[in-house]
Amino acid sequence: MKNIYSYLLLLFLLLACSNSFGQKAKDTPIAFEDDLELEWRDSEDTAYLVAKNKIYAPLEVILTIKKKRSESFLVPAKGETILISQPKVIVGKRSGTIQLDYQIGYHMGHPDVIDIDEDYLYALPFEKGQSYMIGQTWGGRATHYTPDSYYAVDFQLATGEPVHAAREGQVVKVIDWFTKEGGAELSAAANEVVVIHEDGTIASYVHLKYKGAVVEAGEMVERGQLLGYSGSTGYSTGPHLHFVVRRDDNKSIPIYFEGFEGKVLQKGEFYSH
Ligand SMILES: [Zn+2]
Repeated sequence: MKNIYSYLLLLFLLLACSNSFGQKAKDTPIAFEDDLELEWRDSEDTAYLVAKNKIYAPLEVILTIKKKRSESFLVPAKGETILISQPKVIVGKRSGTIQLDYQIGYHMGHPDVIDIDEDYLYALPFEKGQSYMIGQTWGGRATHYTPDSYYAVDFQLATGEPVHAAREGQVVKVIDWFTKEGGAELSAAANEVVVIHEDGTIASYVHLKYKGAVVEAGEMVERGQLLGYSGSTGYSTGPHLHFVVRRDDNKSIPIYFEGFEGKVLQKGEFYSH
């Protein structure tokens, strides 16, 4: 009997460990619930819809009720915010809640917790002493033309080459379980390390190789610290590092690198530090 209990305890511990490290099976699609969980809670006379933020960055949650009234909420990093609170309807001795026709959207960052430091000069996001060519720069016609990627820069790192933090911050999340390279159908299937900076801006280091991250969500990272290894996962036609910094509304912002102040890195040119 005792053996069975210790076996069950061991099994439980193993399951608990595998969950706490956020390990996912290869190529598991990204889910809404990885970032945000919604939960109805009750008190005696009130029902609450609570948004639980699972990541280390604030989220702006937009609630639209009956397709017209939209409201914005700040859900702090790893915190909770009540989106809806409404009285329960009492019918005789039974109670229930009114079902609302609502939609919820969200993105990382929130206007109340961002104050962009436009003078910050970023470090090139690769190993010191190395030199890499730019494959695509601001407004690149291949994929850098939407607001979320307009100011992204592609560095032509080969698979397995080290990616380093361009700025200090906290790791928001790590996605490292994707294995495939392909077209636009894989745009939500790239490995990446996401880092939030002191001013509320958020950097993404994208297309890392499978299991290619060496940092964990929640960890503080220094400028220049090794984050992981480059690859070609997701919407990608060959190994490179897609580096982008975004503001609270998910739009990419122009940033400059130390040694190249005020200069846009040029496609086809090599850069080193
Ligand atoms: Zn790119």
